[in-house]
Amino acid sequence: MTQLTIVVPAYNEAAVLERFHRRLAAVLDRLPLACTVLYVDDGSTDASWAVIATLAAHDARVGAIRLSRNFGKEAALTAGLDQVREGAAVVIDADLQDPPELIPELVARWQAGDDVVYATRRARAGESWFKRFTAAAFYRLMERLAETPMPRDTGDFRLLSRRALDALAQLRERQRFMKGLFAWIGYRQSAVYYDRAPREAGRSQWNYWRLLHLAVEGITSFSTAPLRLATWAGLAAALLAFVYGLWVLTKALLYGDPVRGYPTLMLVILFLGGMQLFALGVIGEYLGRNYAESKRRPLYFIEESRPPR
Ligand code: UDP
Ligand code: MG
Repeated sequence: MTQLTIVVPAYNEAAVLERFHRRLAAVLDRLPLACTVLYVDDGSTDASWAVIATLAAHDARVGAIRLSRNFGKEAALTAGLDQVREGAAVVIDADLQDPPELIPELVARWQAGDDVVYATRRARAGESWFKRFTAAAFYRLMERLAETPMPRDTGDFRLLSRRALDALAQLRERQRFMKGLFAWIGYRQSAVYYDRAPREAGRSQWNYWRLLHLAVEGITSFSTAPLRLATWAGLAAALLAFVYGLWVLTKALLYGDPVRGYPTLMLVILFLGGMQLFALGVIGEYLGRNYAESKRRPLYFIEESRPPR
């Protein structure tokens, strides 16, 4: 029976996979647990799948799935985690930026009763100041906007207990921001600190465009603040228009109507414009609710229950 599955998403990682597996295997050999390794080939266009096949031929613990095309890391992770039918799982990057040597520490926390043990970076070696700066800004923004707080400087490298996996499996929304989902399920979560190494080989698949996309995804999946903005902007515009309209009307009543038709025209335009913006905001509110519903997330997870005796 498998007690721990290591899920490794890999997209064009042929250059590093063998080295990764050697380091991982050395760690697993020393773990007193029945482990398996599940590689998820996310539609690689290089030799990754062939390398994984060789690894599987030499190591009985290795399993693999291959996605039909490149779906992106979030989908690859979900596909991998869905395969884990028993025991806990560890999610780790293939590029050796997440040290496999940290796994025993994650396991120790799990055995002490934690459900989600995430690895938080202390230092980001080999990353430009711009990446560091944008990452810090993103985490700060998320902290303010998101309804569920997310740990900072934490990637996907983490251990998930059985019940955390079962909970995660129920979140079937299509727009998946895994870091947010991991935090959202709750249960006992704790952090283990480590220094993040620079990539060993190959290139990061994330460019700033993809990272920006991920950031927008994170904000829009975990907050409806942008939608609510429309309501307030619409309401403010309608109020301003109303006040200005009153002023135009008063002026026309007091000093006459030198440009014939201007006050009534202005009143109608301002009133209708304000009402339209407000109506858009109201639609935004309902859209936000609809959006939240359409995700069909379960309403809660029960951590513990005591049946009557
Ligand atoms: N990855 C993936 N699909 C993708 C992009 C990346 O499965 O479309 C994998 C990649 O092989 C690696 C992990 O996700 O194991 C992290 O990717 P990367 O190193 O490019 O991201 P970064 O470390 O810069 O956040
Ligand atoms: Mg990386």
